[in-house]
Amino acid sequence: MQKQQQLYKGKAKTVYATDDADYVIMHFRDDASAFNGQRIEQLERKGRVNNRFNAFIMQKLAEAGVETHFERELAHDEVLVKRLDMIPVECVIRNYAAGGIVKRLGLEEGQTLTPPTFELFYKDDGLGDPLVNESLAISLGWATQAQLDEMKALTYRVNAVLSKLFDDAGLMLVDFKLEFGEFHGRMVLGDEFSPDGCRIWDKQTKKKLDKDRFRQSLGDVVEGYEEVAKRLGIALD
Ligand code: 5GP
Repeated sequence: MQKQQQLYKGKAKTVYATDDADYVIMHFRDDASAFNGQRIEQLERKGRVNNRFNAFIMQKLAEAGVETHFERELAHDEVLVKRLDMIPVECVIRNYAAGGIVKRLGLEEGQTLTPPTFELFYKDDGLGDPLVNESLAISLGWATQAQLDEMKALTYRVNAVLSKLFDDAGLMLVDFKLEFGEFHGRMVLGDEFSPDGCRIWDKQTKKKLDKDRFRQSLGDVVEGYEEVAKRLGIALD
């Protein structure tokens, strides 16, 4: 697969075209950003750790019957994925209150949300990814009701699979964000699943092992990601 021109540069990943119109290459960079890109730092090894982490999770999800864009790892920080027609909303599941919902509603951090809460955000950096609802997403043509139904069902399915995986490793999957797109008319999980886009706490101590270590300047950010990887049995080189 031949790497071609850069298509898109996000806050932590760069996407390149390939000689096959159905596939693109994602490069995981070491950049970490917070507060909508206002704070950007380089964190050594983050790109390769997230690439391995994402590959492991995507393979687990595929085994559980969730179709993902993951094809194969090409290098320590690069992966070959299907080229999706992305739906511009982020699907978030919250098992416990943290982050945005704590600020918005004044909840206690760690409060259990039963059943887990599903939220939609409009993917727009300029607007700071605002919270939206299904009605608006349909009115503005971002997705159809059928697409939203499928994305929501898949997000809950991912939650069931990953909550168990993390729980078995002594970890709490507090919340996470997914992005979907269409591939030849099928709804497919895209983007990435890594500690950059979810919250993971140690079950006993409630120690934060995800990107909140960066957002809240707790230190040892990549070390937190590596700790989770180790507990899940992910081989890091
Ligand atoms: P919150 O709304 O609490 O800020 O985020 C909820 C969950 O979605 C967290 O796990 C957070 O990491 C993830 N998330 C929300 N927006 C983004 C985003 O723009 N990029 C990434 N990587 N993760 C996000």
